[in-house]
Formats: sequence, C-alpha cells, structure tokens
Amino acid sequence: MSENLCPQCQHELEWQGDYHCQPCQQSFSKVGYCPECQARLEKLQACGAANYFCNSCNELKSKSRVRFEFEKKSD
Ligand SMILES: [Zn+2]
Ligand SMILES: [Zn+2]
Repeated sequence: MSENLCPQCQHELEWQGDYHCQPCQQSFSKVGYCPECQARLEKLQACGAANYFCNSCNELKSKSRVRFEFEKKSD
C-alpha cells in the first residue's frame, strides 16, 4: 500500500483522475524519477500494469525502486 500525501500539507490525496488535495484545492501528477540517473521516467501502461522507462538509461525500471514525487498541476 502506498501512501499518497500532499507535498504541501501532508493531507492524503484523493484520486479523481488526478491526485487531488482538498485543503489545498490543488491537483497533482505523480511523477517517477530514475533511481540511477534521476531522469524523469516515462510511464508505460501495459495490460493494466504500469511500467516506468528511463530514456537516458534506455531500460525499464522496477516500480519498487522508482522515486515518486507529486508535481503541481497548473490547471
Ligand atoms: Zn495539501
Ligand atoms: Zn536512468
């Protein structure tokens, strides 16, 4: 079980197509970063499972090692 907490207020985010924080009235995207080179990973959706691909390393990264951050959505 992963906890999805708001990076601003630590409130739990609600899934509404995006991650949404009620107190902040702010939507966030979950962005994965490569554990090796810190590059932003590309999310590949295949057969219901999400895979994370690093374009710099040119390989798939295991989800358990990917570092996730919530990024503010501008609109
Ligand atoms: Zn918040
Ligand atoms: Zn990489």
